Amino acid sequence: MSHRVYKFGGTSVATAGRIRRIVGLIQADSGAHVQTVVVSALGKAEGEPGVTDTLIRLIDLALDRSDERGTLFQDLRGRHRRVLADLATAEDLPVVLQHLDAIWDDLGELLDGVYLIRECSARLRDTIVSMGERLSVPIVAAAFRAAGTDAVHVDAAPLVRTDDLFGEATVDFAETERLVASHFAEWPARTVAVVTGFVGSTPAGVRTTLGRSGSDYTATILAGALEAERVEIWTDVDGVLSGDPRLIPDAFPLPQISYLEAGEMAYFGAKVLHPRTMRPLQAKHIPLYIKNTLNPDASGTLISDTTGTAAGPVKAVTAIQDTGVLIIEGAGMLGVPGVAARAFGALATEAINVLMISQASSEQSICIVVRADRHAAAKQALETAFADEIRRGDVSGITGSAETAIICAVGERMRDQPGLAGRMFSTLGSAGINVQAIAQGASERNISAVVDAADRVRALQATHAALVRSRRQVHVCLLGVGNVGQHVLGQLARYEPSNGIDLKLVAASTSREMIVDLAGLDPATVRDQPHRPANLDELLRELQDSRLERLVVVDASASDAVTDRYPDILRAGFGLATANKRGNTRPMAFYHQLQALASAGLGGYRYETTVGAALPMIRSLQDLVRTGDRIDRVEGLFSGTLAFLFNQMRAGHSFSEAVFEAHRLGFTE
Ligand code: ADP
Ligand code: ASP
Ligand code: MG
Repeated sequence: MSHRVYKFGGTSVATAGRIRRIVGLIQADSGAHVQTVVVSALGKAEGEPGVTDTLIRLIDLALDRSDERGTLFQDLRGRHRRVLADLATAEDLPVVLQHLDAIWDDLGELLDGVYLIRECSARLRDTIVSMGERLSVPIVAAAFRAAGTDAVHVDAAPLVRTDDLFGEATVDFAETERLVASHFAEWPARTVAVVTGFVGSTPAGVRTTLGRSGSDYTATILAGALEAERVEIWTDVDGVLSGDPRLIPDAFPLPQISYLEAGEMAYFGAKVLHPRTMRPLQAKHIPLYIKNTLNPDASGTLISDTTGTAAGPVKAVTAIQDTGVLIIEGAGMLGVPGVAARAFGALATEAINVLMISQASSEQSICIVVRADRHAAAKQALETAFADEIRRGDVSGITGSAETAIICAVGERMRDQPGLAGRMFSTLGSAGINVQAIAQGASERNISAVVDAADRVRALQATHAALVRSRRQVHVCLLGVGNVGQHVLGQLARYEPSNGIDLKLVAASTSREMIVDLAGLDPATVRDQPHRPANLDELLRELQDSRLERLVVVDASASDAVTDRYPDILRAGFGLATANKRGNTRPMAFYHQLQALASAGLGGYRYETTVGAALPMIRSLQDLVRTGDRIDRVEGLFSGTLAFLFNQMRAGHSFSEAVFEAHRLGFTE
């Protein structure tokens, strides 16, 4: 039996209404596969804080011996009771309540323990913090049963085997796969398994957690173990976006990204996924979909082996906040081997995680980035490790700010694109943001920069605006707004971005007047807007000075004055698309000049003619020649209008009727 694994985050199970919604989504996807639904603790909604955060707060209140603890505990219990009562059937309710009451009793006792001994070990903390998921799964399972779908709740702790690195335990995959496979081996048909996210246990059976946001990881761990056909992670945004939507309002959903891109994004701070989520899927090529519970029709993001066909090489920008920098500097380090190794050794001894390093090529300075809350400890460790060098003056000291952030640009195709790092840093530079260190991942899928914490949001916005493009913007300058030109305007007005290409009209001119707006003109109303006297020289110069990327001049003018300028247009690097035959019916030398410029330039030269009533000829001939055919002879009746007229007359229409009809259909002016 094949498996599908779904994960609903805290936001998706925050209220009874949202839980009903997910029940509907799962019911709609039922079929010949076992449905495993991983859920988080009840999340933030309608003024209520997330349950995991509340559990952490309860621990802090117990440590502080604050009186608030009692009320907060009762509020939390009340919230779960209300959600359950709203969802469960009358006969189910007392059974589930009893199950939850046992957990509340445990939680109360554990918090009393913390209060009494004024200490909460990492191990105890994991047991308490993982209760949110133990409380949510019986409620969600009850909601399924109330809606007529068999469902049982499953505690993942005994199935996900980990080490005892409490707070962010490491999974033992071989053991976990065995445990999960045997648990689901005889799974009853058409019964939804509602599984706790976030939790695991050590070989001795002590509860652990997989780190904040760990339910994502639980879903893919199970999917890997079950060889699931797909995983769906349902959250509260339309997929993985090109940036954090709370900080970058222009961020847009990415239709497709690779496991590696998603991994880089998550590692560098994109909260939407736990950084390890992709790991269990990669080797087994299991596709992962990110979907929005609040907007299920949105197509979401597909994460798989391959990256999608996005517009640019940079897919997204992310940031890790609350980091600190440490710089080991000194002329005496030059060429001394093992300095970096010693620095890492010293930090590893203190269990300080290094987020990023960069080293000046002269080896005169090494820059290390750690979490801000470990900055002081890291500084101390390095000062101790390099005490001798500091005394001798070989190392001038350990410096660096404790208030920084890492800004990161991510994209699979970045390695094919030279100069990106330069663009990122000149963007930050022109936004007045000081870059303290840079690093490029060996995979060349990311470039990171360390900036002041205070500059984080501005740096993200500037980098997103400069490097991440949803689609290619092609700028259009229309020359000639007669019959043909008006059709072009109509097509522009109706144009829906496709194949990753967006068209933006920036200039329009007739022989008498013109209008230019680099920010974009509305093709539907451009003719009613104020124009100034036409001047082709001025227009071309303005367009050239604008440095707009990808500009296409569309000639719908049928004017020799415009044809005269074709060489200039191509030389400027603009694309040229013409609706008339004038450019190609001048002396042969002119034709050859245009062809030579077009093949040397960036924009290309496009023209077409039609025969037999709207059959494009030139493209067809060019394709034949390109694929090896040789043209011996061309013969035919080359007037589409005449061909149409003759056919109409042969069908019995009069000449005048046929001409009116040809005009009505737009075949002739
Ligand atoms: P869940 O409760 O479903 O696990 P999370 O709050 O953990 O949801 O993650 C979803 C949130 O992540 C979004 O609401 C969004 O604010 C945030 N986020 C940050 N960066 C991104 C990104 N690049 N793409 C999508 N969401 C992001
Ligand atoms: N409930 C846990 C957290 O808030 C795990 C998760 O939501 O994925 O971090
Ligand atoms: Mg999450």
